Amino acid sequence: MNLRVLKIIDGTTVDGPGFRTSIYFAGCRHECPGCHNPSSWDFEAGTDMSVSQILERISENDMDVSLSGGDPLYQAEALTCLCRMIKDSGKSIWLYTGFLYEDILANPVYAPLLKYVDVVVDGPFINQLRDTALLFRGSSNQRLIDVAKSQCGKIVEWESEF
Ligand code: SF4
Repeated sequence: MNLRVLKIIDGTTVDGPGFRTSIYFAGCRHECPGCHNPSSWDFEAGTDMSVSQILERISENDMDVSLSGGDPLYQAEALTCLCRMIKDSGKSIWLYTGFLYEDILANPVYAPLLKYVDVVVDGPFINQLRDTALLFRGSSNQRLIDVAKSQCGKIVEWESEF
C-alpha cells in the first residue's frame, strides 16, 4: 500500500508537543485562502512511499509522529493502515486536517483512522482568524481535539500536561 509523501522532517516542534517526526502528505482540495503551502495541493507532488518504507524511516528515532500536508485524509485507507502500525510501535499521533472532526466521524472511510490518532487538529485555515500566538495551529477556528476524551459525543480539547 502506497502513500504520496511530500517530505518527512525529524525534530519539528510546531506540529504538536515535544520533538516529533512530521510526515507531510501530498494533495489538498480545501484551497484555504492564505494557505501556508499551496504547492502541497498537488496530488502528484512528492514521491510514492509504501507503508513499510515510511515505518522504517520514522523508526530511525523515538519521536512521536505528526501527520500533515496537504491533507492526509485524502489518502485515508492507506493512512489508516500506517496509523495502526505507528500506534503499535508505541508512538503518539497528531493529525492535521482541513476537515471538521464531526465530518470525519460521519465518514465511513475517514472515521476508522480515529482509533489510532491521539489528537486531531481540525478545520480549514482561515486567514482572518490567523494568530501566530496560538499553540500548534494557524487560526483560532482550528481545534486541538483529544480523541480518546471525545468518545461520548462531546468534544474535549487537548490540554498540555506541562
Ligand atoms: S487544509 Fe491546509 S494544506 Fe489544505 S489548503 Fe487549507 S491550509 Fe492549505
